[in-house]
Amino acid sequence: MIESNGNGVLHSSVLVLNRSYLAVRVVNVRRAFVMLYRSAAEVIHIDNGTYANFDFDSWCQWSMFVRDNQQENGDGQQNDWIRTVNLRIQIPRVIRLLHFDRLPRQHVRLNRKNVFARDAHCCQYCGQSFPPHLLSFDHVVPRSRGGATEWENVVTCCLTCNSRKGDRTPTEAGMELRRHPNRPASHPLLHIKLGNPRYHVWRPFLGQSGSAIDVG
Ligand SMILES: [Zn+2]
Repeated sequence: MIESNGNGVLHSSVLVLNRSYLAVRVVNVRRAFVMLYRSAAEVIHIDNGTYANFDFDSWCQWSMFVRDNQQENGDGQQNDWIRTVNLRIQIPRVIRLLHFDRLPRQHVRLNRKNVFARDAHCCQYCGQSFPPHLLSFDHVVPRSRGGATEWENVVTCCLTCNSRKGDRTPTEAGMELRRHPNRPASHPLLHIKLGNPRYHVWRPFLGQSGSAIDVG
């Protein structure tokens, strides 16, 4: 259904709310449009603090209206667009699930991607940053010594340091952690997203309960 317009906008993010307007996760544009097209979700459009709800068809009509209006006024609002065969549709920033009352996650999910994000993709032993495929997930106290898989005992580690450390504690290996690992109170990627003006409209939905939602 959707063609990329080559600007990478399909990689932009959409906040998903449950029926009660609580943030439950962040998805990519393609996933958001699939949910809209299947009537599993509606668009929540925020304009000067006022919310408006749109289904897929009315959102397409709204998009055409905005596009025509922009052309007339020549105003360059910060909207992203995608093109389908027949339409040019504005990318929504927030959608709301119509059928599910999934509750917001209370704790950030522990997985490789989120640990790497917490540690800013820096090896916690040598301090260098690497792309994800050159990183591994190190148990500070090895599992063979009873070390648990929990935020306080896992760190981002480059392949060289991982191999050097082996099945030892940092002290035994003569290696020092740059920072003591902690459980993040909110999703590390969310802060990065919220620094981008296009996602400022998410802020009213991200109270304490929404901060641990999955991103990406
Ligand atoms: Zn390293």
